[in-house]
Amino acid sequence: MSTAIVIGAGVGGLTAAMKLAHAGVKVELYEKSPVPGGRCGRVEVGEFRFDLGPTILLMPFVLQQAFASIGRKLEDHLELQRCDPHYRVHFRDGSRVVLWTDPAKMKAELEQIEPGSYPRYQQFLARGKIQNDAAFEHFITRHFSSVLEFVTPKSVPQMVRVGALSKLWSHVSKYFADDRLRQALSFQTMYLGVSPYDAPAVFALLPYTEAVHGIWFPRGGMHAVPLALAEVRRLEGVALHLGQGVKQVQVENGKAVGVELEDGQVRRADVVLCNADYAWAVKHLLPPALAAPRSAKLSKARFTSSGLMLYLGLSQRVEGLLHHNVFFGRDFKGSFNDIFEKGRVPDDLSFYVNAPSRTAEGFAPEGKDALQVLVPVPPLGGPVDWKAEAGRVRAGVLARLKDEGYGDLEPLIEAEQVLTPDDWQTHHRLERGSNFGLAQNFLQLGPFRPKVSDPDLKNLFWCGASVQPGTGVPTVMISAGFAVDAVLAQLGMARPRERVA
Ligand SMILES: Cc1cc2nc3c(=O)[nH]c(=O)nc-3n(C[C@H](O)[C@H](O)[C@H](O)COP(=O)(O)OP(=O)(O)OC[C@H]3O[C@@H](n4cnc5c(N)ncnc54)[C@H](O)[C@@H]3O)c2cc1C
Repeated sequence: MSTAIVIGAGVGGLTAAMKLAHAGVKVELYEKSPVPGGRCGRVEVGEFRFDLGPTILLMPFVLQQAFASIGRKLEDHLELQRCDPHYRVHFRDGSRVVLWTDPAKMKAELEQIEPGSYPRYQQFLARGKIQNDAAFEHFITRHFSSVLEFVTPKSVPQMVRVGALSKLWSHVSKYFADDRLRQALSFQTMYLGVSPYDAPAVFALLPYTEAVHGIWFPRGGMHAVPLALAEVRRLEGVALHLGQGVKQVQVENGKAVGVELEDGQVRRADVVLCNADYAWAVKHLLPPALAAPRSAKLSKARFTSSGLMLYLGLSQRVEGLLHHNVFFGRDFKGSFNDIFEKGRVPDDLSFYVNAPSRTAEGFAPEGKDALQVLVPVPPLGGPVDWKAEAGRVRAGVLARLKDEGYGDLEPLIEAEQVLTPDDWQTHHRLERGSNFGLAQNFLQLGPFRPKVSDPDLKNLFWCGASVQPGTGVPTVMISAGFAVDAVLAQLGMARPRERVA
């Protein structure tokens, strides 16, 4: 029986492990943390519970497909609930817009901001469908081994068609005159940690998929996704070793032959598949002779934003908040410039508040509230003193919530935890504390993004946010599928390519 070691039980590692085991490979999965999930983990503070990172589940059909590929039904392991309204966006001038799937409600919301905008929203969505479908067919569900596969006489017109070569902000500006609607229908690139001024226009597929396929909330929160995957991996017979970190990939004659664990034990296998953050793992898990030159190259790459997180347990329910809430600072464009170009935290913050108790039980005791606040900030590497900055950010968030009429939350705080980019790097092993890994600008997409087969070491494979096709829970599951295909081909167990709808 062929054997595989998977490093890391994030969504990517769990998906890959269950698929490999289903294909007949004996899999050992090593996870340094005591719980599976990685960025999709859980935070517990006193009697309050929070999702660590992701809170927005898009493209549930990708999850369904991943389960179906091994003969299982997602619904048997995970209950999904649709969020409609999606979220409320708060602008600095005091105005607000609520985004809905429901067309009549959406129309009323858009028209109160920009009269006559709804027909153009419909055109924006029609264009979004073309972008979404073409991106899925030609780019997101394809792994590229070389630039020649990517840039072909057939693919170049496709790239122009989907807007891979233009910018999202310019695209959205063609449909809407009011900056507030432009902002509300382009900030979704921050789900990938990229500015809408830098992201290719093809990412209009995000507001499209929200409107058409919906925003979903897994019962139990996003952490329920890795828990469901972990359950299936158990049923498929994968051994999961929690609290057992890998120290280094073992190499003999240019091939990966196993791993050395942090406790010094050595484990051998036919292949090693690494789900730990790519840039972090290259630096820390590869033998130094390989790690140094590759890390030097990666240090010049563009990284996504980090997040300064506040997890607040409150003695009372905050009236008026929806499940998802977005707050934009005064200078929308300037804030992206601060984060991505100047490496500083904007003076007037933009942030996101997740209040899951609106939809589900189990996050806060009856009558109390659990808020996860995500403030996008630069990745590590700039001059920011994060301890000092955390205090300023916390005060800024509380002041803004008060200004917006949600009350003075300070006296209600019973329990809290703060997480800075330093913590993302130190505790969650994300290079530069970057929440989403390598950025997804054109030159870091497709064949320009790390491939699932290691370029130097035979039998070493990768999956996760920084490899093809890119970051985000569903996309990482697609990357696991790419990696499994490559592993099975290497082991002589190739299977037909899966298609994602
Ligand atoms: C704050 C935040 C908000 C986000 N919001 C969203 C959202 O709303 N929707 C969405 O779809 N996506 C969102 N994302 C992105 C999404 O979380 C990631 O793209 C995805 O979860 C990454 O999964 P992964 O499997 O690639 O990596 P990870 O989740 O990072 O998993 C890697 C695993 O490897 C383990 N590991 C590392 N080193 C070792 C070692 N040496 N030995 C053993 N194990 C090791 C880690 O502990 C971890 O469990 C968000 C991310 C963050 C941080």
